Amino acid sequence: MQELRNCERCGKLYRSNGFYKLCPSCWEFDEFDFRRIKEYLSNHPGAKIFEVSTALDISVGKIKRYLRESRLEIIEKENRFLFCDKCGKSIRTGKYCDECYRSMQKTLTVIYPGSRRTRRSTVVSFKSV
Ligand SMILES: [Zn+2]
Ligand SMILES: [Zn+2]
Repeated sequence: MQELRNCERCGKLYRSNGFYKLCPSCWEFDEFDFRRIKEYLSNHPGAKIFEVSTALDISVGKIKRYLRESRLEIIEKENRFLFCDKCGKSIRTGKYCDECYRSMQKTLTVIYPGSRRTRRSTVVSFKSV
């Protein structure tokens, strides 16, 4: 299932497997930034999002995307940074709160058979403010 797409970052046409929105070279940059964030957080546990963004010169929007992709998470349960796409409750990672996620899980299992959230192992934590 490969389709031609424009890379979200540089606009170059590339063959997508439908999962990544970036061309291979931008994806590498993206991984690189992600590793820098991880490294920074392991040296500065509990750092704030804006602090990380400034220190590494990585936009807050990008960090938010990593959060949405469940690659990072926010320490506080109640934060004013990330919200459930469905009910608007504040969440720590991903797109939905646990309740909405559970109510959708049935559907998700049909669309992505065998997919489970295995995020815990790679997650690094932030403070939101
Ligand atoms: Zn690109
Ligand atoms: Zn929700």
